[in-house]
Amino acid sequence: MSFLPCFLCGRRLEKRTSKTGKPYFVCDPGGIQIFVRRQDGIERLEEFMCAVEKNAIPFEQHAHRLFEIQAILSEIRGIKGEIEKLESEIGIFFPDQDKTRASNSLKTRLETLHGELKELAEKSTR
Ligand SMILES: [Zn+2]
Repeated sequence: MSFLPCFLCGRRLEKRTSKTGKPYFVCDPGGIQIFVRRQDGIERLEEFMCAVEKNAIPFEQHAHRLFEIQAILSEIRGIKGEIEKLESEIGIFFPDQDKTRASNSLKTRLETLHGELKELAEKSTR
């Protein structure tokens, strides 16, 4: 099941789906409703849920580390974009060495970031 922590009280908010098929969250005690209406938000939410699930980050942990996880995901998103851009510029027949090197170091950074997500999960099981 998909949860987000309430940013005010830390309560576990279950993902609900509106009539129009958009995700939203409700914190009853705080009277807070969070609607995710645009494509970018929906994609980020899905990305976040996937990362939490794939790395089996327990709820208690992702409540504490929400922003840490978000920061890692943002960086992953940015780096993926940069790699795509570089690779489209590198060329197939006469590869640009500098761009290839830059792309490779971005890929290393990407692995490090995925490692950091895993680490968050491991920390929480100790
Ligand atoms: Zn709340």
